[in-house]
Amino acid sequence: MSKYVFFFGGGAADGTAAQKNLLGGKGANLAEMVNIGIPVPPGFTLTTDVCTEYFKNGKVFPAELDAQVNEALAKTEALLGKKFGDPSNPLLFSVRSGARASMPGMMDTVLNLGLNDEIAEGLAAKTGNEKFVWDAYRRFITMFSDIVLEVSKEHFEGDLEATRREVAKGKGIDITKYNAEELKTKVPDSELSAEDFRKLVTVFKGIVLKHTGKPFPTDPREQLWGAIGAVFGSWHNQRAKTYRKMHDIPEAWGTACNVQSMVFGNLSDASATGVAFTRDPSTGENAFYGEWLPNAQGEDVVAGIRTPFNVTTRAAENSGSPGTSLEACMPAAYVTLKGIYERLEKHYRDMMDIEFTVEEGTLFMLQCRVGKRTAAAAVRMAVEMAREGLITKEEAIMRVDPASIDQLLHPTLDPKAAKKTLAVGLPASPGAASGIVVFSADEAEKLASEGTKVLLVRIETSPEDIHGMNAAQGILTARGGMTSHAAVVARGMGKCCVAGVSALNIDYKAQKMDITVYDGKVAVETVTIKAGDFLTLDGSAGKVYLGAIPTVAAQLTGDFGQLMEWADEVRRLKIRTNADTPHDAGVARKFGAQGIGLCRTEHMFFGEDRIAAVREMILSDTVEQRERALDKLLPFQREDFIGIFKAMDGLPVTIRTLDPPLHEFLPTERAHIEDLAKTMGVSVEKLVQKTAELHEFNPMLGHRGVRLAICYPEIATMQMRAIFEAAVACANEGVDVQPEVMIPLAMTKRELDKMKAEFDAIGAEVLPKAKKPVSIMFGTMIELPRAALCANELAKTAEFFSFGTNDLTQTTMGLSRDDAGRFLPEYVNSGIFAKDPFQSLDVEGVGQLVAMAVERGQQTRPDIKLGICGEHGGDPASIHFCHSVGLAYVSCSPFRVPIARLAAAQAVLVGRGKSVASTA
Ligand code: PEP
Ligand code: MG
Repeated sequence: MSKYVFFFGGGAADGTAAQKNLLGGKGANLAEMVNIGIPVPPGFTLTTDVCTEYFKNGKVFPAELDAQVNEALAKTEALLGKKFGDPSNPLLFSVRSGARASMPGMMDTVLNLGLNDEIAEGLAAKTGNEKFVWDAYRRFITMFSDIVLEVSKEHFEGDLEATRREVAKGKGIDITKYNAEELKTKVPDSELSAEDFRKLVTVFKGIVLKHTGKPFPTDPREQLWGAIGAVFGSWHNQRAKTYRKMHDIPEAWGTACNVQSMVFGNLSDASATGVAFTRDPSTGENAFYGEWLPNAQGEDVVAGIRTPFNVTTRAAENSGSPGTSLEACMPAAYVTLKGIYERLEKHYRDMMDIEFTVEEGTLFMLQCRVGKRTAAAAVRMAVEMAREGLITKEEAIMRVDPASIDQLLHPTLDPKAAKKTLAVGLPASPGAASGIVVFSADEAEKLASEGTKVLLVRIETSPEDIHGMNAAQGILTARGGMTSHAAVVARGMGKCCVAGVSALNIDYKAQKMDITVYDGKVAVETVTIKAGDFLTLDGSAGKVYLGAIPTVAAQLTGDFGQLMEWADEVRRLKIRTNADTPHDAGVARKFGAQGIGLCRTEHMFFGEDRIAAVREMILSDTVEQRERALDKLLPFQREDFIGIFKAMDGLPVTIRTLDPPLHEFLPTERAHIEDLAKTMGVSVEKLVQKTAELHEFNPMLGHRGVRLAICYPEIATMQMRAIFEAAVACANEGVDVQPEVMIPLAMTKRELDKMKAEFDAIGAEVLPKAKKPVSIMFGTMIELPRAALCANELAKTAEFFSFGTNDLTQTTMGLSRDDAGRFLPEYVNSGIFAKDPFQSLDVEGVGQLVAMAVERGQQTRPDIKLGICGEHGGDPASIHFCHSVGLAYVSCSPFRVPIARLAAAQAVLVGRGKSVASTA
C-alpha cells in the first residue's frame, strides 16, 4: 500500500527534510523541525504523489487516502486533546500548499478550517473571546469561498467596507473624505466588534447561497476535503503556471498539501505572528532580520495589509521606532525564537526563512525553509559562512546561482547626478531603475511589450500582479514590509523594489498618486505623479526620486572578489571574453577575463572614418581599386589591434577575419549613395546596380565568412597584415602579445590551406622585424556541421578550434538565428525545447557535433587548443557541457565573465558530486 499521508507532531514525524520531492519543501521541513524537537503545531502532509495521481485520474483521490487522512487526524486529535468538529473542544486546521521548490504566494491556503455556527459558539465559550472567534469565522468563509467555492473575495468586500463605514461614523470620522483603501487604515479590522463580525458571518453566508445556490458547508470534513482539492487544484492556476515558467519548475512535480492544527496569533495582545530570516536577505549581513505584528494572523504580515514592526530592538531603533520590537514587547517569546533560529541555521547550515506564531505567550514554528536572497546577500552569506566554518569553500561556491550574479554587475545610481528625493520606504530589493509610472500589472505588461520602461506602482502587490512585476523595471508599493509579497517576489526576480512607502497616496481610479514630501519629520509639499510620469527607484536605499536619473557601473570587490578567487582555484576552464574594442577588453579584464576569445573585426569597419573606404573596397571592380581602398583601411586596423593587444598585454587575443556578407556595409539611403559615388568617381546608377548584384536571398548561408576571403583574398590579407604589424609594433614596445588569427565559417581543409598560405607569406615578411620572437597561431571556427564532421581534416591545418555555436546551432537545427524568435517561444512554452537553443546549448543535438569535433580534432592534433565563442559561452548550463567535453576555455561578453568563472568552478564540483543550491 502506498503511503500518502505523513504525520508530524509530538517530537516525531514520519518524514524528514530529505523527502522534499515527496513532502514538498514545507512538509519536509515541518517534519524535520518536529524531529529535532522544535515546537510545531501537529498535523500531516498529503504527498505530491497524491497531487499527481489526483490529476492523472481525472480529479479523483487515491482510494487509500481517506483512511490514511482519518488516521492522521485521529493522531493529531489525541496529541492535542481536541476534536475536529466537536463544538465543546474544537480543533481547527490550516490547509496549505507546499511544492518541492518554494513558490511564495502562488498557490492557495485556507486558514481556520473546521468552523460552523455551533463550533464557533463552542470556541467562543472555551476561549472567552467572541471577537476573535467571529473574526476568524468571517475570514474562513471569505478564504474558503474564494478558493474552494469560487466565490471571489471581492464579493465580500462591499459589506466589510459598509461595516467599516458604520464604525468610522460612530467614531466621528468624516467618511466622505476617504476611499475604500484609505478607510482600511482609518478603521483597521481590529476596531470592528464581535457583533460586527457575527453580522458579517450571516451576510457572507447569504452571499455564498446567492452565488452557489447552496448553503455554506457546515460539515468540517466536507470543508477539509474541499480545501484539499482546491489546494491541489491551485497547482494549475495561472499565476502558479507563470511562476513555474519563470523559474524553470517542471509542471509534472505537483504540490503537497499540509493540514496543520491552528495556533492563533490573533487571540489576544499576548499573541503575535511574524516572519524572519536568520540573516538579512537583502544585504546578507549576519544579523537576524524579522518582522512581526501583535494580535494578527500570519497572512497579515506577508500580505502587506498592515506594515509590521521589527523583531529585534536593534532594527527597530535603526528604523526609528524603538520600543516596538518583539524583543522588547514579548521578551520571553523572543528568547525562545532566538534559540530556535540559531539552532535551525546550524542544523541546515544555511540562512533560513521562518514563520512563527505566539499564542498567549507560547511560541510555535509554522514553517522554515532555506531563505531566498538577493545575489549580493547570497555572495556575502556564502563567503561569511565559509569563514565561520559553517560550510566549506566548495559549498560556498555552490551556494551562489551564477545567473543571479548578473544583478551585481549592473549599474547603480550615479552618485554625482542631481536628485530630488520624493519619498523613502524599505530597501526591499537592490538595484536602480527608472521608468514611467503605471498603476496596473496589465498596463505594465502591455507597455513593456511595446519597449517602454515602466515602474509598477501598487498600494500593495498580490500574486495576481506577477506578470506586471516581471515586465516592469522596478516595483514601488505604498504598504508592506521586507517580507511582503512585493519584496519577496522582486528579490527572487532580481528586480529593484522599494516597499512600504507610506507617503504615497495612490488613487487607481484617477491614475495618479499624491506624494507627501518630508524634510525630516515636516511635510513640506505634495507632489502629484500621474501615470506616464518618470520616477527613479533605488532599491538598495529604499528611495524614490523624481525623473530619470543616470546610473554608474558596478564595482566588484570584497566578498565577491573572494568568491571569485575561490572559484578560480577550483575551475579548469579558462574564461575569455568576446570584445572588439580596447574599452570592452579592459572591462572584461577587470571582471577576470583571461584573454579575448573572439574579436569580431566587422564592428571596426562601421566607424565614421572608415565606412567610406569599406564601401569603396566592396564596390571596386578591379583588384587594384580594391587594394587602394584596403590600403586606406590598413592603418586603422593596425591601430585597432595595437589598442587591443595593449589592453590584453600578456593574454591571448583571437582575431577573426571578416565574416558578414558584404551588402551589410552598403549604404541604403540615397544621399549616402550619392556621396559615395562622388568619392569613388562613378555614377549613382552604377552603385545602385552593384548593390543589387550583391543581394542574396539567404545571406546567412551565402557569401560570408571564409568564402569572402576565397573570392577577395585582399581583404583577409590586409587584416592579417594589420594583425602581424600590430603584434610586431607592440612586441617592440615590450608588450607581451599572443595573437591568434581565426577563420570563420570554414568547412574544408582546402579553404584553410589557402588562408594559411597567405598567413605564412605575411608572417615571413613581417615577423622578422620583431626584436624578440613573436608567434601567432592560426585556427578556425567550427560553425558548420561539415566542419565538425571533418574536424580531423581541418585540424591538419588549424592549430585551434573555436566553436561558433551561434552559427553551429543555426546550421545544425536549420533555424534562422535572425527569424526564429518569432516561433521559438512557442517551442519553449509548449515544452518541445526545454530552453531556447540560441541561449542554452542544445546538448542533445548540437552538443554531439561539438563532442565529435573535439574528438576528431584531437585525433589529428592531440594538443589542439579548443574553445567556444558563441553566446553559449556565458550560459551556465552550456559551460557545464563545455567543461565535460574538455574544452580549454569559454569566451563570453564582458559582463558575463564573472558568471562564467563561477559556473566553470561549479562544473568541476558537480563532477565531484556536489549539488547546486537553489536559494537565489
Ligand atoms: C557564432 O556563430 O557562434 C559566432 C561566435 O559568430 P557570430 O555570432 O559572429 O556569427
Ligand atoms: Mg558565426
